[in-house]
Amino acid sequence: MSRNHNLSAGDMVSERALTINGARLWNNLMEMAAIGATEKGGNSRLALSAEDSAGRKKFIQDCQSLGMTVTSDAVGNLFCRYQGTAPELDPVVMGSHLDTQPKGGRFDGVYGVLAALEVIRTLKEAGLQPKHSIEIAVWTNEEGARFTPAMMGSAVFTGIMSLSDALARQDIDGISVAASLEKEGWAGNSPAGRQFNAYFEAHIEQGPVLENHHRVIGVVTGGQAIRWLDITVNGNSAHAGTTPMPDRNDALLAVAEMVGGLEDTAMAFAPQGMMTIGELTISSPSRNTIPGEVTFSLDLRHPDDEVLAQFDQACRQRLAVIAARRGVQLLVKDHWLSAATPFDEQCVELVSQAVNTLGYTYQRMISGAGHDAIHIAKHCPTTMIFIPCAGGISHNEAESIEPEHAEQGANVLLNAVVARANT
Ligand SMILES: [Zn+2]
Repeated sequence: MSRNHNLSAGDMVSERALTINGARLWNNLMEMAAIGATEKGGNSRLALSAEDSAGRKKFIQDCQSLGMTVTSDAVGNLFCRYQGTAPELDPVVMGSHLDTQPKGGRFDGVYGVLAALEVIRTLKEAGLQPKHSIEIAVWTNEEGARFTPAMMGSAVFTGIMSLSDALARQDIDGISVAASLEKEGWAGNSPAGRQFNAYFEAHIEQGPVLENHHRVIGVVTGGQAIRWLDITVNGNSAHAGTTPMPDRNDALLAVAEMVGGLEDTAMAFAPQGMMTIGELTISSPSRNTIPGEVTFSLDLRHPDDEVLAQFDQACRQRLAVIAARRGVQLLVKDHWLSAATPFDEQCVELVSQAVNTLGYTYQRMISGAGHDAIHIAKHCPTTMIFIPCAGGISHNEAESIEPEHAEQGANVLLNAVVARANT
């Protein structure tokens, strides 16, 4: 029996779908979860720590046993390559991250890396060699828990962050990224910014939408736009015991009304529009002084840049109306803006086709969280595949997924990637 027949374009998805070995994938996930395991069933593999290195080494061994070649770049991103029949073509890349939060779960990031490994195992086992080479990328420091910012490896790869800036970042003990790379031996000379044909990232949803809607696959169409505002409200500080209620100019009471008003405005843009006030501070707080100044943050999100701009305007108007009625001064400052990241239509379509061929329930959705794929989308055609996680819980030791969903997500990844790699 020939173990090494090549695929011709479109050979695979149109007829019948290839499938991975779900038990083998789950076993591999549990083996990785044993590295840096925490008491409550989670994982702690902080970026470039000894535990992270142990996880990477296990992954590399598994790749090498499949005959894959392993390289790394200057910030320690790993690239494991399964050679195609036309190795001169740009690779189709799958990937995610193996680092975790200090008390993280077993699946965030890890799922995407090990689903990708299972895809290669399946191809190898079937003796299939696609036209394009297929690589698995393991991005350094996606979590941003030990070193900031998050998604550092993919930011350096795509030129969003400079290598020198990344290398100089230090953890809480003053140990730099450069020193950690050196100690653990992860820096290599694979060139940053090398061309990819496409990038596919499978990931747990980290939210409750798929579970609530009883869908298995999230066909991810992009990342949402984000605006951060800083808001300062000034009234008058005064004595809590001598100033009658009608004579007060209490900044906090004005802000209380603003908070309710902003929720009301956000509901008009829901469910895609989202509003969060995560920081709120009374300046020089004192229990017997009427608050004179209150500052708060405002995080606004929407998948559409233009709608987010309208949402932003509606919030500002609401704040201005309340401030005028309350007689407080209002200052609204832009803090940060990140445009929406639409994913590549052809890649999204390949994922949709794979889902249809496999007959899974799905829904199109946007990514609420940041991912390496959001950076990589600026570099090459990119998309993501989500699977449900129990209760939408993530960044938590209790993070949990169904083995069946893990298998189904990997099947979608396999068929989408193979279709791309044969064109
Ligand atoms: Zn992640």
